[in-house]
Amino acid sequence: MIRPSRAESSATLAGMSETGVNHRESQNAEKPDKRQRTVRNSCLKCATYYTLIVMRVLLIEDNAEFAILLAEGLAKRSISSEHASSLRAADERLAGNSYDAIILDLGLPDGDGVDWLNGLRDDRPPVLILSARGALTERILGLDSGADDYLVKPAEIDEIAARLRALLRRPGSRDPVVLNAGALSFETISREVKFEDKSIALGRKETDFLELLMRRAGKVVPRESIEAVLYGLEEAVTPNALEALASRVRRRLAEAGADNVLHTVRGVGYFIKEQSS
Ligand code: CA
Repeated sequence: MIRPSRAESSATLAGMSETGVNHRESQNAEKPDKRQRTVRNSCLKCATYYTLIVMRVLLIEDNAEFAILLAEGLAKRSISSEHASSLRAADERLAGNSYDAIILDLGLPDGDGVDWLNGLRDDRPPVLILSARGALTERILGLDSGADDYLVKPAEIDEIAARLRALLRRPGSRDPVVLNAGALSFETISREVKFEDKSIALGRKETDFLELLMRRAGKVVPRESIEAVLYGLEEAVTPNALEALASRVRRRLAEAGADNVLHTVRGVGYFIKEQSS
C-alpha cells in the first residue's frame, strides 16, 4: 500500500516502500484464474511492455518519493505519467501536452488543488483527486468542484489504475476530440466511427477497443493492457475473446472499405496504422 502522510514526514516516507505494488500482485496470485494470471504476467514482463502504453496521465503531486513510487506502479500497468510538483508546473505541462487523465493531489506548495480545478477549462482531461483529505465534506467539495473521481490516500496502486481505466472507458470523456488515422475517424463525444465520411456501426466493446487503438494510432497496444481496460480484473474473459473482438472490428472496417488498417502483432498486441494506404 502506498501511504503518504499528511505531514509527509521522512519517517513516513521511509515506510512508504514498494510493498504496495508487489503485495497486491501476490494477492492476485492467490486467485489463479486465467484472467488474473494474464494480468500478473503482464506486470512481470513490464520491462518488455514499458514503452507500450495505453494511457498517459499528468500526476500532480508535491511529495517526490510518493510520485516516483506511483509512477513506477502505474508504468507496470501500462499507464505512463508525467510529473508536476506544483500547480504552476501542471499548468505548463497542460499547455503543451495532451493527457488522458489527471491525478491531482490537493495540498500543493503554490495553492489548493480544489481551487485550481475550479479554474480549469471545460475541455480538460478527466481528473482523479488523490488526497489525504478523507472527510465526507472534503470529498463532496472535490467532486462538486468538477473532479471525476476521488480516492483517499493511502490507496492501492491497483485501485488507482482501475479508476483511471474507468475514466478512460467513460463514454464521451471530456475532451471533444476527433481522433484520426488516415481516413478513419473517431469522435470521442458521440463515439461515432467514420471511414471517408461513411458511418461504421460498432457494438460498445468494439467501439471501446477501437478508441483505445485510435488514441495510440501508430503504436502497438499490448493485449494485456487492452484486456485490462475492456474487461477489468473481475470480468471472466476467455483466452480468445480479444481475437474474436478484433476480427469483428476488422470485418466492420473492411465492409466500410477500411482494409489494412487494424493490425495484429502476434503474441504482443494490436495497432491502427496512422495513414491508411
Ligand atoms: Ca501534498
